Amino acid sequence: MPKTHVTIPFFIPHSGCRHRCVFCNQIYTSNTRFLPNEEYIVEKIEQYLQTIKPGVNHIEVAFFGGSFTGLDEAIQQQYLAIAYTYLSLHKIHGIRLSTRPDYINHKTLTLLREYGVTTVELGAQSMHDDVLQQAQRGHTVQDTLNASKLIKEYGFNLIIQLMPGLPCDSFEKSIETARKTVLLYPDGVRIYPTVVIKDTQLETLYKEGKYIPLSLDEAIEVCTYMYDIFTSNNIPVIRMGLHPFDDAVADTIIAGPYHPSFGYLVKSRYFRNKLENNIKNFLQNNGNIRTLTIKLPQYKSAEYYGPHKENIAFLRNIFNTITLQFYSADIDDLEIYG
Ligand code: SF4
Repeated sequence: MPKTHVTIPFFIPHSGCRHRCVFCNQIYTSNTRFLPNEEYIVEKIEQYLQTIKPGVNHIEVAFFGGSFTGLDEAIQQQYLAIAYTYLSLHKIHGIRLSTRPDYINHKTLTLLREYGVTTVELGAQSMHDDVLQQAQRGHTVQDTLNASKLIKEYGFNLIIQLMPGLPCDSFEKSIETARKTVLLYPDGVRIYPTVVIKDTQLETLYKEGKYIPLSLDEAIEVCTYMYDIFTSNNIPVIRMGLHPFDDAVADTIIAGPYHPSFGYLVKSRYFRNKLENNIKNFLQNNGNIRTLTIKLPQYKSAEYYGPHKENIAFLRNIFNTITLQFYSADIDDLEIYG
């Protein structure tokens, strides 16, 4: 499908952070060491604008990788003024930034509104205070609730970022976190299962045997449940798993459920569960079936089949007393015939 949205990203690694969370090393995750200066930002925006393809109807400038509203106010204004110039000229359509819940208040949001910011992403990570404490986040669940409410009141789009698998987290806590996040009415969520990155406190804890990361399969499982909760509440999941690391910093992933196509793996598991449940229901309502024909919507066939068609093999193994025949077709949802 051709791209309709383009994000022009700028990373401000750790800027605005007054301390370091146990899992975080933005230098490696963004492969960026320095704050972008004015000249660099303008040059990069211009470069992007020159390569925008027909069909793109939404262009955003985004500041990721730190706590934007924790930056010195003059620096915030300097960055926002550049983006705002392009916004006023209708060359871009939005400004997005990420920050922490405890760096949100009337003053910060008033400034963001003045400069036409459209979306605020909040690193909430968990809805459990003990998990936040162990991660040394330095804020509470109540801070997330207050900040989310205020962001919505000011009319910004709200995106919540979550991290299942932090120290002291559990499957149940992650699910509860997803359920509580739904009640904030976010416009989208990002789910980043915790990965152990080099030169973090989590690396030390991991090496001392005090932290055991989720396995890839455990992370897929918990994220599938979270994905289900959000999609069934019409909340878009805009990202699952860290962005693929540049080759130069690939060896900074020490342990944990990192996979360059993590989001695809979760969606494949979600659709495998959906197929399994639908087949079970069909068989319960229709006795004496020897062969089932299952039509899969073409536009989702990669997710339904799974990597290397492993979902098909899985289902044939479970329902091994009947023949399952799969086809892709130009339909909206899956169809099953006996
Ligand atoms: S997670 Fe966010 S607040 Fe914590 S150290 Fe990293 S950038 Fe700073």
